[in-house]
Amino acid sequence: MRSIKHIVIHCSATKEGKYFNAKDIDQWHKKRGWNGIGYHYVILLDGSIQTGRPIAKQGAHVKGFNRNSIGVCYIGGLDTNGKPKDTRTPAQKLTMLCLMQSLKEEFIDAEILGHRDFSKDQNKNGIIEPFEFIKHCPCFNAKNEYKNLKYEF
Ligand SMILES: [Zn+2]
Repeated sequence: MRSIKHIVIHCSATKEGKYFNAKDIDQWHKKRGWNGIGYHYVILLDGSIQTGRPIAKQGAHVKGFNRNSIGVCYIGGLDTNGKPKDTRTPAQKLTMLCLMQSLKEEFIDAEILGHRDFSKDQNKNGIIEPFEFIKHCPCFNAKNEYKNLKYEF
């Protein structure tokens, strides 16, 4: 198994309530010239999980950090006007929490972050602030939401 330093949460950047799945993402990523879906897990609107790449294989989801990370994507992330929004359904939130817990059990030293947390700290104040986000993905503060998970076993 690869060594895993980061578990990175993404959104599919699709409008809330619109149903897409891992197969759609696989096709989008193939169109970009990638070797199929870049994420390892996809969480659907109804809370069910689909697998993308096997976790033993490097993903394609966070530039410069793919080698030692796992990519998890929930369907959604945009409001009906296409603006960034935490559109996770209660079922998606519950599934994401369970998945984060089980991944943390397996990869105890891995840090859970949102894609946007890999933006550059441009003013070097130690905090990656919203104006510095290269993108908004996953449209909520994943770092904060899952930071204390390791204490909940
Ligand atoms: Zn992303």
